[in-house]
Parts: sequence; C-alpha cells; structure tokens
Amino acid sequence: MNCQNCKTITEGGYSLCATCELRFAGTLLRLAHDVTPLHDSLDATLHPGGHSPVRIQTATPPTPIRLDVLDLIDMLDATARELWRCLDGIDALDWRKDKRNEDLKATLIACAGHPRLATFTDAGLYMHVINDLARKVDTVLDPPEQRREIGTCELCETMLTAGAADQWVTCPVCGREQRAQTVKLRRLKTLCWDDSERGSAADISKAFAVSGLKVSRKTITTWEQRGKLPRHADGYAYCDVYRLLIGPDLTKSVR
Ligand SMILES: [Zn+2]
Ligand SMILES: [Zn+2]
Repeated sequence: MNCQNCKTITEGGYSLCATCELRFAGTLLRLAHDVTPLHDSLDATLHPGGHSPVRIQTATPPTPIRLDVLDLIDMLDATARELWRCLDGIDALDWRKDKRNEDLKATLIACAGHPRLATFTDAGLYMHVINDLARKVDTVLDPPEQRREIGTCELCETMLTAGAADQWVTCPVCGREQRAQTVKLRRLKTLCWDDSERGSAADISKAFAVSGLKVSRKTITTWEQRGKLPRHADGYAYCDVYRLLIGPDLTKSVR
C-alpha cells in the first residue's frame, strides 16, 4: 500500500506512513492548543496577538464579533467531531449515534492519540482537510505582516509595497509585474553605489532589513565608535555600511 498523503510505500493496512501519521497527530495537537487563542480572537475590538501573548489594539471593525473566526471555529468543530466518529467506526453522517459531549479541544486531542489514526480508510483525506484548516487558523492568529515599501517600479518609479512572503509585485500605476527580490536589490544597489546617499543608523538598518540584510542600529554605531565607519554631517553613507557588512563579497551579492 502507499501512503495516501506522500505516496511512499507503507506496511500493509496502513493508510499513512509513520512520518505522515506523526505530522497529522502533530497538527491536531497544535489545533487543540489554538482553540483558546481562537476563541479570544472572536472579539473584534481586540487583537489578542495570536500566538504571541501581547494584546494589540486594532482599528474599529464593522462588527463586534469576527464572523470569519466564528465560521472557522464551527468548521473546525464539525470536522474534528466527524473525524473522531470516523476513527471509531461510527458512520460520519450518523451523528445521532454519537453520545459524546467533549469540547473541541478534548476532541482534537482524542483524535491525535487515536490508535486508528494511520489505518482508517480516509486518513489521507482528513489529513488534507485538517492541514487546510490549520493554515486558516494560522492566518487568523498570526495575520500576515503589513506590506512595506520595498523599492521603486522599474518602469515608472512608483514606490512598490509587498508583504514579507511575496515573490512578485505588480505596480499599481503601470501594471508591470516584477520580482520582489529584484526590486529590493535594485533599491539597495542604488543606495549603496551612490556615495552621497546618507541616513541615520535606524534608516540604514531598516532599509537593509527590507532587502534581507541584517544589521542593527547598535552595530552601526559600534562601528563608528571603533573608528571603522565615518560619520558625515548628514549621517552615515549607505555604501560604507554595506561594505563593512558584506566585505569582499560585495559584487557577488548584488548584481
Ligand atoms: Zn506519508
Ligand atoms: Zn510602474
């Protein structure tokens, strides 16, 4: 038999390979852990900060309860109970026969530890559905980072914005599609090839971070204190910081 998820050969009678069974159980446990933060996220006037504990105030929403989160909890609840019945061999649609009254968290944990998790017929299908729900839960709890300015359009010089994971950006003015990494590197190149581009330690740190280069404000000021980095009347030169950061590999990294 083949694993219904990754297609590797499995022992007879197994719908999932050992690796996929572990992953499936792990996802179910992670979802169990997310039930409380999910319920906290229902209150639309407060963003509970998802997986991180800090509470952040957001702009006033149109409704006091986030209906998308409510729908997601309902869907997760229905799926988890259906999965549990399936695991116990109760027909998935015959919910009246199921007298159990555990809460969502307990149901998810029971599924994760169920002895038939890797052997029941629809394991691959449920793994797929659960993964999909887990992705949606993650989006609710860890909303994608705000879009930030990454550089200008290669055609019309409009400032483009992108999220951290975006591979491509489309210029809102001229419609040109371009690779986000190219835009970022071009911006960095402009900043670093022009001797007259200056900025504060914070400006430079921020601009480099956008292009994926890590240099803290502290590092920049330390370099100055150690006499490695000259400070001009209008700030540090981007190109100086860049040279110190990249060293002799300068031409290899930015083309
Ligand atoms: Zn597998
Ligand atoms: Zn453009």
